[in-house]
Amino acid sequence: METPDIITKNSDGTLLVPDNVILPFIEGDGTGPDIWRATRMVIDGAVAAAYKGAKRITWKELLVGEKGFEKTGQWLSDDALDQIKKHVVAIKGPLTTPVGKGIRSLNVSIRQKLDLFACVRPVKYIESVPSPMKHPEKIDMVIFRENTEDLYAGIEWESGSTEAREVIAFFREKMKIFLSDPCGIGIKPMSAKNTKRLVASAITHAMENGRKSVTLMHKGNIMKFTEGAFSKWGYEVAKEDFGQMTLTEEELYKTHDGVLPQGKILIKDRIADMLFQQVLLRPEEFEVIATPNLNGDYISDALAAQVGGLGMAPGANIGEHCAVFEATHGTAPKYAGLDKVNPSSLILSGAMMLDYMGWKAAADVIRSSLQETVKAKTVTYDLARQIDGAQEISCSAFGKALVDKM
Ligand code: NAP
Repeated sequence: METPDIITKNSDGTLLVPDNVILPFIEGDGTGPDIWRATRMVIDGAVAAAYKGAKRITWKELLVGEKGFEKTGQWLSDDALDQIKKHVVAIKGPLTTPVGKGIRSLNVSIRQKLDLFACVRPVKYIESVPSPMKHPEKIDMVIFRENTEDLYAGIEWESGSTEAREVIAFFREKMKIFLSDPCGIGIKPMSAKNTKRLVASAITHAMENGRKSVTLMHKGNIMKFTEGAFSKWGYEVAKEDFGQMTLTEEELYKTHDGVLPQGKILIKDRIADMLFQQVLLRPEEFEVIATPNLNGDYISDALAAQVGGLGMAPGANIGEHCAVFEATHGTAPKYAGLDKVNPSSLILSGAMMLDYMGWKAAADVIRSSLQETVKAKTVTYDLARQIDGAQEISCSAFGKALVDKM
């Protein structure tokens, strides 16, 4: 086995992944260490099963969150961020948002400081998982949520603060707009540049994965110059950069009788509130959804609930230079150290990471062993309480059960 080395990027952006690759991980707070231990065992087991020793991962821990603060005095150091940049791909458990003035969510800070502009959340039903839907198997979507702008940019001022009063005075004097005083103010910035790179990555994903449609989800009927512009810029980038590959719904009916030609991707848009209804009523019509930050937050969790909840939902934050794969739930502090919670979200995020690295055989091993384990009704407490006749096992036993099936 060659000496461990880091991932590098070719000039066209594709990854060069050595067979013995160094990957940084952040264990996470609360239940993070429990789910990370199980996840690491499963990822290592899958790589060994798929490549019989020809590939392996050399893990490198980054001290972030409570562990970082304890050992280095910093919640999120510049060194940890530099290490993620240098290694291109990393995986993380959930992090507590430290309580106190001036400290933002570490998760949001990581996304913004590394410019991880796309939050990618696949939502696909795993057989036997309890779901509130009649036909959860019809749900197979990937959400691309813009990660850097919108009301999430954190530009807001408290009601009655000097800054809020100055903004209110500015509107009154310069724009003749009269806001209640005092009132809290939040700003919703959205740009063509950031929208277009997000939509372009959603279309690229659709092309690379044989998906037939990309839906632009927005609330442009009300917020014309932010959400409405998101949809307009989305159509623009589809024409400018993917003109040969894409069709709008108008073109589909005008020139193709409503039948999508082989190999083409349909670009459509839906108003956010209507899309929430349609993903319940006709989920099979949606494959890739590209959307601004706040809509993306809501729709990702709602869709995760449709296929069995956040404990099973994987996610990644992907930028031009690096990508961080993470559990989509929080630290679930009341279960910390009990070896109890479901590690599937982080395990499936690990499978996404292996896909991203081009180690698809190992990713497939993870998904099929997880499917088999759940089907055999050997599951953690969260699923056991919903599945008749299930055998409840611990977080680590669930990880071990997956490895045993590889
Ligand atoms: P949470 O940690 O997601 O936990 C809420 C509930 O969800 C848990 O009590 C549990 O439900 C269920 N749950 C979460 N993870 C589970 C798992 N792996 N397996 C089974 N069930 C699971 O949300 P929270 O309590 O609102 O947040 C706690 C902390 O996490 C906060 O500091 C927050 O800022 C942080 N957070 C971090 C991230 C991130 O790192 N990306 C995301 C969200 C929140 P039951 O009680 O029903 O068993």
